[in-house]
Amino acid sequence: MTIDTQTTPRHPLLPNTEQSCLGILGGGQLGRMFAHAAQTMGYQVAVLEPEAGCPAGQVAEHHIQAAYDDPAGLAALRKLTGAVTTEFENVPANSLTMLAQDGFVAPSGACVSVAQDRLQEKDFFTRCAMHTGVFPAPHARIENQDDVALISEDLLPGILKTVRMGYDGKGQVRVRNRDELAQAVAGMNGQLCVLEKMLPLAYEVSVLVARGVDGQAVVYPIAENVHRDGILFTTTVPSPNVTDGVAQIAQKAALDIIAQLAYVGVLCIEFFVLQDGSLVVNEMAPRPHNSGHYTINACVTSQFEQQVRALAQLPLGNVRQHSPAVMLNILGDVWFEGDAVNPREPAWDKLLALPGTHLHLYGKSEARRARKMGHVTFVAPKLADAQATLALACDILGIAN
Ligand code: ATP
Ligand code: MG
Repeated sequence: MTIDTQTTPRHPLLPNTEQSCLGILGGGQLGRMFAHAAQTMGYQVAVLEPEAGCPAGQVAEHHIQAAYDDPAGLAALRKLTGAVTTEFENVPANSLTMLAQDGFVAPSGACVSVAQDRLQEKDFFTRCAMHTGVFPAPHARIENQDDVALISEDLLPGILKTVRMGYDGKGQVRVRNRDELAQAVAGMNGQLCVLEKMLPLAYEVSVLVARGVDGQAVVYPIAENVHRDGILFTTTVPSPNVTDGVAQIAQKAALDIIAQLAYVGVLCIEFFVLQDGSLVVNEMAPRPHNSGHYTINACVTSQFEQQVRALAQLPLGNVRQHSPAVMLNILGDVWFEGDAVNPREPAWDKLLALPGTHLHLYGKSEARRARKMGHVTFVAPKLADAQATLALACDILGIAN
C-alpha cells in the first residue's frame, strides 16, 4: 500500500561520493543494524555516542565519543556527514534541530519531540483520529496529588506512566485504585506523568511505515507482538490473530499519522487490539523498531535499508514479505542457567542447526538479565513451521515458551 501526500523534490545523496557518510545519533543495536545496511549500500557511517565500545561504534567508520548535546561533537558529526538520523528517541530533539540548520536531518527534531512526550503524542493521535478513527487510551495528565483527587473514577484501574523517557515498561506503575495511584505518584519524584485506563487487551500489534521527502510512503505488513515483563518477547508476521479488517484500519491509520506528521524516515506505531476487536493507538517510535527486526530476513527491503534510503533521499524499497517469520528477542537471561551468577555462552551451534534460523548478536560484551543482547528470526514457507522452530529454540536457550 502506498500513498502520496506532499512533494518536495529529492536531492539524493549517492554512495561513493564526498557526501556519502551518513550520521546517526545513538550507538545501540539499532544504530549498528543501520550501519550494516548503509555499508552494504556503499555508504560510510559516523556515530555520535558517549559510550565507548557501543554496538554501533564497533562497526561504524567513525565514532565520535561525546554527549548527544555536545556542540563540538555535533559539529564534528555535521562536518563528516551528508545527512543525519537517530536510532534513539530520547536524544535531545534540539540536537536534531541544530544539525538541521546546515544539513539534512530526518526525522526532524519537531517529529521526534512529539514522540518523546506521551502527552503531546496522545494529543497528536487524538487529532489524527478525525481521519483515522483510532483513538489513544482514555488518559489524564498527572502532575501532583491535586490531580489524583480530580481524575475520573473511570480511569481506574490504570497505568501511571512517566511522560518522558519511558521504554521497555520502565517508568510505569499499575494502580488498582486512587490510594495506589496516590502512592505511585508520590514515588515519581515530581516527574510529570500520564494515567492511562487499563484496557482489556486481546493482543498487541505494530505497524512500520516509512516516508521519503517526496511524500512517498510505504507500509509493512502488520506485526503481532507478545511482551514479557514489559519487554518485547516475540514478533510474529503475519499476525496470527488479526483480521483483514483490523489490519487495514491499522495500516491506513499508520499512513495517515506519518503523513500528518510530514515525517521523513522509518516510524513504528504500536496499537492495542481490545477484546471487542476495536483498535487503540498506543505510542510511536521515530526510528526502526524491535518489532521490525524480522524485516531483515523476511522482507524485500529491511527497515534499516529503508532508513538509509529515506535519509539518502533515494526511492523507498519494496516492503513485500517473502517469508512468514517469528522474531525472538535474546535477553541476557539466556547466559545464566537457572539462578547461576556466572554467565556461560548459550549453545548457538544447536540453535543454528534449526531450519530457517538467523542469529543477530549486538556485540554487547556483558550479558545482564533483561538486557537486549540480540535477536533471532525464524523464517519458513509456512508460519506454523517458523512457530515450531521457535518452540525448539526456546528449549535450547532455556526460555519458557
Ligand atoms: P516499549 O518501549 O517497550 O514499547 P514502553 O515502556 O514505552 O514500552 P508502553 O508501550 O506504553 O511502554 O507499555 C508497555 C506495555 O504495557 C504495552 O506493550 C502493554 O502490554 C502494556 N500496556 C501499556 N498501556 C496499557 C493500557 N493502557 N492498558 C493495558 N495494557 C497496557
Ligand atoms: Mg510500547
